[in-house]
Amino acid sequence: MSEILSFAQLMEKVDAIDPIAYAQTRNFTNGSVTKLSPYISRGILSTNQVATRLFQKGYSMKVLEPLLKELLWRDYFQRLGQVYSQEWDTPMVSEVPAFLLDASSEVQAVDQSIKELEQNGYMHNHVRMYLASITLNFAKHHYNGPAKWLFYHLLDGDFASNTASWLWVNGDRGKKKYWANQENINYYTHSFQVDSFLNLSYEELPEIPSPKHLEKMIAWQPIVNLPKSDDLLLDENLDCLFYTPYNLDPNWHKDELFNRILWLQPSYFKRWPCSDNVIRFILNNARQITGLQVFVGELEELQQVMKTKRKWLMKEHPLFKFGAFEYEDRDWIVPALQGEFPSFFNYWNKVSKVLNR
Ligand SMILES: Cc1cc2nc3c(=O)[nH]c(=O)nc-3n(C[C@H](O)[C@H](O)[C@H](O)COP(=O)(O)OP(=O)(O)OC[C@H]3O[C@@H](n4cnc5c(N)ncnc54)[C@H](O)[C@@H]3O)c2cc1C
Repeated sequence: MSEILSFAQLMEKVDAIDPIAYAQTRNFTNGSVTKLSPYISRGILSTNQVATRLFQKGYSMKVLEPLLKELLWRDYFQRLGQVYSQEWDTPMVSEVPAFLLDASSEVQAVDQSIKELEQNGYMHNHVRMYLASITLNFAKHHYNGPAKWLFYHLLDGDFASNTASWLWVNGDRGKKKYWANQENINYYTHSFQVDSFLNLSYEELPEIPSPKHLEKMIAWQPIVNLPKSDDLLLDENLDCLFYTPYNLDPNWHKDELFNRILWLQPSYFKRWPCSDNVIRFILNNARQITGLQVFVGELEELQQVMKTKRKWLMKEHPLFKFGAFEYEDRDWIVPALQGEFPSFFNYWNKVSKVLNR
């Protein structure tokens, strides 16, 4: 389980990153990945803060490139999330493939990771890719339910990175589908399985019929336990900063006087349910922000409680767009690059031109 860290401790974690070891080992399940995603997804730390700090340490663009690219995949997916927010903000499903709930894909490394995910809210990127490929390309399920299930458990659950990644594995928008065979899985997960349905060559993989044991769907009604609202104590002379599950930035207008509210909207959690582990992670991080109070309710209820005539401020996020608020920008690696790009590599080329200037 990711720890609750002060911002200074998070920066120590950034300082400890070895970009060379990262580049060499990131695809292995025991590789030197940063595990920063829960903090980045929740807006505690930005991709830009990580990149800037590493450049300040004197690493060259060449050494940093593999990690920088991953940080930029996040910014790229966030930009796509802004464009496709309506399409991707899907309603909840009522059933999911049964093998996800009982960890019975029969690919041992994946089943083991599913069990760990339920405990610690993390799954390595490569295993997420294997899992999505098994679900979509072998078992031929729709991505929506499985994506909601994964999101429910991930401490870093993010509607944009999650949806875009499932679509990427699915070969969306005319791209190639992602396939992995058992040999690849054994190599990157240090396992030795030889008896799975994936024990085939890459030429054979797309041809195999959907494995029977992956077909079954099962009812899924995830439980979401939101906390109670605090008894809000508001200073009517102050503007209000609203935090969300995607913005828990401890440095947001730090040392300035504001009412600070973490707003947990039940209708958002109906569409994007989160496990107890995730809610705990959000609350414990939010509670580190001095003076923060928690409000659980819909916009109308918020408007009844918050009688103040002062400004309501939020950080921009496509799932939290309401007329009642003024919005401030998020922290991007290259803020000027906005909208949709034909591919990640097109985005990367534009970013690297700016960073190399
Ligand atoms: C099916 C699927 C679902 C996913 N769902 C999510 C999700 O809900 N939330 C989420 O944050 N990430 C998601 N990812 C992306 C990726 O798996 C995680 O961001 C990564 O595993 C986080 O671990 P880390 O911090 O140790 O990554 P590192 O390898 O240390 O990478 C550093 C940072 O770069 C960013 N990053 C790395 N890989 C990716 C990637 N493939 N896409 C976007 N950003 C990346 C993250 O911010 C990460 O913290 C998903 C990937 C797949 C294949």
